[in-house]
Amino acid sequence: MAPSRSPLNRPSIVQAMTELLGPHAVETGDEQLKAASVDRFKKYTAVHGIYDGPIPAAIVYPESTADVAAILRFAEENLVNVVPRTGRTATEGGLETVVEDSLVVDGSRMNGLLSIDPYDMMATVQCGVGLQQLEDVLRPQGLTTGHSPQSKPLAQMGGLVATRSIGQFSTLYGGIEDMVVGLEAVFPGGKVARIKNVPRRAAGPDIRHVVIGSEGALCFITEVTVKLFRYQPENNQYFGFLVDHFSNGIAALRELITAGYRPSVCRVYSPEDARQHFADFYQGKNVVVLVAEGPKRIADATAEAIEELFARRPHEPVDSSRIQRWFENLNWGQDKIDAEKAAMLEHSHLGYTTEVSVDWSRVSDLFDAVMDRIRREFPRAGDLTMLGAHSSHSYQTGTNLYFVYDYTISTSPREEIEVYHKPLNAIIVEEALRLGGSMVHHHGIGKYRTPWVRQEHGSAYYLLSTLKQAFDPRGVMNAGTVFPLEPDAHGS
Ligand SMILES: Cc1cc2nc3c(=O)[nH]c(=O)nc-3n(C[C@H](O)[C@H](O)[C@H](O)COP(=O)(O)OP(=O)(O)OC[C@H]3O[C@@H](n4cnc5c(N)ncnc54)[C@H](O)[C@@H]3O)c2cc1C
Repeated sequence: MAPSRSPLNRPSIVQAMTELLGPHAVETGDEQLKAASVDRFKKYTAVHGIYDGPIPAAIVYPESTADVAAILRFAEENLVNVVPRTGRTATEGGLETVVEDSLVVDGSRMNGLLSIDPYDMMATVQCGVGLQQLEDVLRPQGLTTGHSPQSKPLAQMGGLVATRSIGQFSTLYGGIEDMVVGLEAVFPGGKVARIKNVPRRAAGPDIRHVVIGSEGALCFITEVTVKLFRYQPENNQYFGFLVDHFSNGIAALRELITAGYRPSVCRVYSPEDARQHFADFYQGKNVVVLVAEGPKRIADATAEAIEELFARRPHEPVDSSRIQRWFENLNWGQDKIDAEKAAMLEHSHLGYTTEVSVDWSRVSDLFDAVMDRIRREFPRAGDLTMLGAHSSHSYQTGTNLYFVYDYTISTSPREEIEVYHKPLNAIIVEEALRLGGSMVHHHGIGKYRTPWVRQEHGSAYYLLSTLKQAFDPRGVMNAGTVFPLEPDAHGS
């Protein structure tokens, strides 16, 4: 939590925004402002109506790049903290307004589909276009972005790029960083930068990566151009296998990936995690899920490799229709969010996740170390109703581990984050870093993994902190996100 550094008081900030954008673009309702002060990191306190952090001065809704530029010019001149947002599915505190009298800049009204080009295989959209909305237009034309995070029904393109998001079909299509061709972003002071669309270039470092993953802490993304792929679900082949040990499942994924195959979906679930997804068939075992996708001959070759691989490995097969059905109900829309809220209130019970990545050689060590430390060290281990993990995104050199933990809260709602969420998150992050992995695979640093950001980047941290100093010298973009709120002795 930080005081405002602005010479303007709250009413003057609201008045200035109203003059700049018009009253229809400025929201100051009490309930809306409270809800805008947090994200899903604080879902449990929020559902109890507890909002202890600073409440923003206003939520503003730009409708054009020029509006965004005007807001950021005003913010920089008047030292007003800006929190960009689009789909509001953030999980790591990236949307929290930790500075008094912040402006939440909501890009969801910038929802124009600017162009769909099936020849050069690109789509250009404004930041507030929902991924589902885009896919609903593309798929009837036989096209797809290939991006399919579980939050697809809600997340929007600005946030998806800002968080370096990744989807369920990542092993084939990559993460968002592999999909973005070019983009437009507005930097503090109102400077507009359009990074042009080219297939590849060697014109210096890749400046797209200054923006992708910046989590609203450097700029506001206004427009995104992504690649398009052929949409041919008729070729998809679904596979499920039960294996005795988590490490056996990981070894199978490693063999497949390092041999050069690219199943779009490539997952293994520990039994604890499998129970919540595959209760009717997992039999207390680890579940491997694979999908062969793409042009028919490629999908067939991938499917053949999967079958050969498991013919050589002890397993029990799962009927493919069960895996396909599971996929069809995997994504989270507003209905599941609402059901979760009701369940949290009724049962004082909730689940969170922490996702990290590590080389193949350390995956099993990481899994075992986290499970062991939580069971031994976490003082409220008795309140855990589930602790497990899955690997869901694999690479030539390693994979991610997505730890999942559910607990029943036996403290007051206000204490939930300090007593449960933070200590559990810390153990997973610490173990990932200890084993040479990354503390965050795809949800972003937000505001709750900043204590480890220097350790994450080591001697390269100065590259990251120099971006902040260069692009946001007055520190008005999403304070406390990516970069710790309190600067260190060197001011970085
Ligand atoms: C149920 C559920 C499932 C999820 N599944 C996945 C998954 O499979 N894969 C995955 O990667 N993530 C997943 N997430 C996390 C989340 O959906 C992603 O991080 C997503 O990319 C956020 O997009 P959004 O539009 O909701 O952004 P928001 O929540 O609005 O914002 C996210 C962050 O981006 C910044 N931001 C937003 N818009 C802009 C902009 N225009 N310019 C600059 N910065 C901006 C915000 O300040 C914030 O820091 C999941 C979340 C939920 C709740």
